[in-house]
Amino acid sequence: MPSISRKASSFAESVIRDMTRIALQHDAINLAQGFPDFEAPQALKDAACEALQGGVNQYAITWGARPFREAIAAKTQRRHPGWVVDPERDITVTCGATEGMIAAMLGILDPGDEIVVFEPFYENYGPDAVLSGAVPRYVTLHEPDWSIDQAELRGAFNRRTRGIVLNSPHNPTGKVFSRAELELIAALCQKWDAVAFTDEIYEHIVYTGEHHPMATTPGMEDRTVAINSLSKTYSVTGWRVGWVIAPADLTSGIRKVHDFLTVGAAAPLQAAGVTAMASPDAYYDALATEYRARRDLLVTALRDAGFRTSVPDGAYYVMTDIRDLTDEDDITFTRRIAAQPGVAAVPGSSFYSSREQGRSKVRFAFPKRHTTLQAAAERLRTIGKR
Ligand code: PLP
Repeated sequence: MPSISRKASSFAESVIRDMTRIALQHDAINLAQGFPDFEAPQALKDAACEALQGGVNQYAITWGARPFREAIAAKTQRRHPGWVVDPERDITVTCGATEGMIAAMLGILDPGDEIVVFEPFYENYGPDAVLSGAVPRYVTLHEPDWSIDQAELRGAFNRRTRGIVLNSPHNPTGKVFSRAELELIAALCQKWDAVAFTDEIYEHIVYTGEHHPMATTPGMEDRTVAINSLSKTYSVTGWRVGWVIAPADLTSGIRKVHDFLTVGAAAPLQAAGVTAMASPDAYYDALATEYRARRDLLVTALRDAGFRTSVPDGAYYVMTDIRDLTDEDDITFTRRIAAQPGVAAVPGSSFYSSREQGRSKVRFAFPKRHTTLQAAAERLRTIGKR
């Protein structure tokens, strides 16, 4: 009998996407998967329609339509002076950050290489590493403030280390890595000749502290692969448009892999991406302000319902601890509350390499309208202890 590959057998289906299916089954309020239930900006939708009607319907250049790459470079340099990006040599437009990360790993890592991943982690990084033949080395972010133990991080690097994944602002904890933490990671990357794969898709959703791109940390210009996307900043997770900024020699590998994986991202949506990149600073300020109000609403609701929570400094998730509410494990609990009272969340174990570490944790997402979050709050209040 034909069977699936050892690689594919070595990881499970996405728990987050599975919870969305369970939410649909029970007609639950979906605070599992991180996508907005409000509309994308009208100007972006208009730009996409115009591109479709205006004949932008064939393949774009495989590594991205030139006007979009130019717009990405201009926006990056405007927001982060000192970060020099050549749109001709340093950018690959991908099908979301998701493809960006795996194309980058496949383009840069070899089988047997090690890659450091902080845990809890966004669940794609493990499978991305496995599909690239690389071995993930997990380093724990310690509660209550999700801090790094310097000795543990240093101990994870060795002569086989080729990279580290850095996601800041961080999903699922909301941690925003500080300058000092970035400098420590930068020093280790330089010592061990490793590449920083930075997932920066929440760069504009910051409440406390500041987002510092790793590429602007001294010594990291030549060893940072910065991954980003339209999904979260512009509320268009379904468009599947992202990009990777990397030094030209690394970009050449990423572009080749990207070409054979997908050929390219949707051309009319890349055209609309030019409009997105031209958004004024006020757009980003408003985005963070609106998310802060949603965060405060959900954190209060979760605390009122008996969850222990830390308050995220960035991104749009709240990681909770359920030990004051139940002895159930995270999976039993999330399945129960999806059915009754009908709120879907993600079991914490999907963010850890060992199930036990996430057993008492549950993640809630808040890219939702206030009415949705208020309805969820009312339902959560009825959970009670068990
Ligand atoms: N990276 C992180 C940290 C995420 O949280 C998500 C989505 O939730 C993604 C990447 C996926 O991004 P995209 O929609 O651009 O593929």
